[in-house]
Amino acid sequence: MFSNKEAFKRHFLQRLEMMCGKSFAESTKDDQFDTLGHMIREYVSKDWINTNERYRAADERQVYYLSIEFLLGRLLRHNLMNLGIEELVEEGLHDLGIDLKQIEDVESDAGLGNGGLGRLAACFLDSLASLNFPGHGCGIRYKHGLFEQKIIEGFQVELPELWLRHGQVWEVRKADLAIEVPFWGNVKVLEENGRLVFQHTNAEKISAVPYDIPVAGFKNQTVNTLRLWNAEPSPFPFHKDILKYKRETESVSEFLYPDDTHDEGKILRLKQQYFLVCASISSIVRGYLKKHDSLHDFHRHVCIHINDTHPVLAIPELMRILMDVGGLGWDEAWDITTQTISYTNHTTLSEALETWPIRIFQPLLPRIYMIVNEINERFCQKLWQLFPGDWKRIERMAIIAHDQVKMAHLALVGSYSVNGVAALHTEILKKREMNDFYQIFPEKFNNKTNGITHRRWLLKSNPMLADLVTEAIGPSWIRQPEELSRLLEYQNDSVFLTQLDDIKKRNKQKLADRIQAQTGISIDSSTIFDVQVKRLHAYKRQLLNVLHIMHIYNRIKEDPQYLFYPRTFIFGAKASPGYYYAKKIIKLINTVAEKVNNDPAVHDRLKVIFLENYRVSLAEEIFPAADVSEQISTASKEASGTGNMKFMMNGALTVGTLDGANVEIKERVGENNIFIFGLKADEVLNYQGYRSVEFFHYDKRIRKVVEQLTNGFFADVDDEFEAIYDSLLMQNDQYFVLRDFDSYVNIQKKVGQTYVNKEKWLKMSLMNIAQSGYFSSDRTIKEYVDDIWKIDQADYTRLYH
Ligand SMILES: *Cc1c(COP(=O)(O)O)cnc(C)c1O
Repeated sequence: MFSNKEAFKRHFLQRLEMMCGKSFAESTKDDQFDTLGHMIREYVSKDWINTNERYRAADERQVYYLSIEFLLGRLLRHNLMNLGIEELVEEGLHDLGIDLKQIEDVESDAGLGNGGLGRLAACFLDSLASLNFPGHGCGIRYKHGLFEQKIIEGFQVELPELWLRHGQVWEVRKADLAIEVPFWGNVKVLEENGRLVFQHTNAEKISAVPYDIPVAGFKNQTVNTLRLWNAEPSPFPFHKDILKYKRETESVSEFLYPDDTHDEGKILRLKQQYFLVCASISSIVRGYLKKHDSLHDFHRHVCIHINDTHPVLAIPELMRILMDVGGLGWDEAWDITTQTISYTNHTTLSEALETWPIRIFQPLLPRIYMIVNEINERFCQKLWQLFPGDWKRIERMAIIAHDQVKMAHLALVGSYSVNGVAALHTEILKKREMNDFYQIFPEKFNNKTNGITHRRWLLKSNPMLADLVTEAIGPSWIRQPEELSRLLEYQNDSVFLTQLDDIKKRNKQKLADRIQAQTGISIDSSTIFDVQVKRLHAYKRQLLNVLHIMHIYNRIKEDPQYLFYPRTFIFGAKASPGYYYAKKIIKLINTVAEKVNNDPAVHDRLKVIFLENYRVSLAEEIFPAADVSEQISTASKEASGTGNMKFMMNGALTVGTLDGANVEIKERVGENNIFIFGLKADEVLNYQGYRSVEFFHYDKRIRKVVEQLTNGFFADVDDEFEAIYDSLLMQNDQYFVLRDFDSYVNIQKKVGQTYVNKEKWLKMSLMNIAQSGYFSSDRTIKEYVDDIWKIDQADYTRLYH
């Protein structure tokens, strides 16, 4: 049906009538999207089945990537592109008078994640499949993804997200493969033939039903699987109140927790975590036992990777299955488990490290708790042998201490590999945060600097730039992104630089049109587009950006002759609904925008835009249009960042601290092609005697902007920003905003001065694009494969030809 354009058109029209029961003339965009989606899913089925059979026949090592989040975004064009039928479909639809772009807009984002961590999982799936690796995702099919954000009178308002409203065309429900997940109840210990047997009785069971989504590699016939688990009432419920049971069951996969840093301490969250792990491991083991008659060699054929600690119960769950179901003894089960599980750490923020009180953990997961307890006992004994008498150390390192289960410690002890997500982050883990563990398990620690899939973030989202690149250096960069470095040959090619400039202008105009349509605010595409888009968090310091804008505004008001290259500051950010301070920052950004955008005195020189509901599909429109990328976290706090890489790949220049992967971006582009400012990580970590009030008193610019937060400068907001004022002065500015202010103002001045020299700017931009290949998730995935998973590239020529 996709063999040629005419065949496609014929099939499409037939299918549309059959599926929708109306003629083409009467069909809506929704009908057309559904029809096309179903055709694609059907088309992909053959390769999907073949891929699975190939993996079964070859009996290769398989990777399962367990993640509580997968931030996929839209899949229509991505699938068309990877299947190599984009052009054919686009032209076929065009003949029928349909614009593929409009059909794309029908699709809701699959927003099953909060931010970087979930998007990383999505990029990894694309790279695994595109590189022919047997790697699959396991996650939860939340009924509601991350909330939809509206801005009303400057405040964030959260609406439930409804991505499943029209049904999902990509997924396949597999009810026959459901798994029963037990909660609560008791554990009976019996003796059978001289060994202990554990029976989980009186458990409340929830049915986990898999929905599979095909993950097609880039033009290579490999189709891997993302398996998302849906919570449903068990056909054999053990419950008195059946309605209550049904409600409670479905709630397990109802909502994504809208917070990526704090642990809410909710029973439901722990239930979600065990639900994901139990269902995924049972189904992995079931698949494994179809080909093998025992579990002794499990670790030779299976890798289970846990994306942060949310799926860390994979460790005791695999132990349980190996012992209670497989009949293995503790030592062998432990050997297998610790050669199967690998772990990625995503943060050093202590408030983000998960812990669970025993009083919640033990009754909810009684058998799992017994196993964690045993792991802890044995680990503490080992510590006692290594450090006799060092009670303090044992207390610090224990998995269970002070009535809390520490999930990161369980991950460190029960996995064979622990990786950070950027070089600096991994060093901080080794030297500080996890130094105790590094001392006893140095061989476990390694770095895997994050990456992004250049197929979505350049090839798909910036087609004009992608075409220019291909014209210049040929298409090899699509399979080998490091080839982008060949663009350096064009550094002194004025024709090429002019084309680069022209593409950026057109992308900026497209974004400007969208902003005009959505907000009614007109912005000038010849101004510098200075962009900060990411989750709202104190450590990411959107506040520093806003205070700088207020300062620029003050300067222009004081001195209308003030030399300043006109700028449009663009923000996009969701705040966790319970994060009071972050919501205040959103209100502040919008309040500043209101004031600045309506003041004729700064007209044409300064605009501030807050784009609501930042998400993957919006991100894809923003990155190609950015001149400046704001990566201004307090050094040492951002583990890697991936937004920084998307900007760079689209030719934006970074204004950033030496934090996360910014450090490695600087190494690659050179210090002259990036704008670095502020305290360094070790300066932050070792800072002695910071007193923010001193900066307030001695720097007039700071005093002015900070006072403006509460002195009536903004009309009609009363004491709205008192909490921000207090954080800066009364609470001594935990994130060094005032400390880095002067340095930030200076570097921003340099940005404006550099932009004036268009040719210089374009060369810098080209350098960033050319050096961005390293930050492709293809490179990251190859490193995981070589150093951690040690799997083979599926050699399908061997099996099929
Ligand atoms: C890339 C991405 C992120 C991560 O951004 P950071 O700047 O690295 O925090 C968050 N949300 C979306 C929608 C993204 O595409």
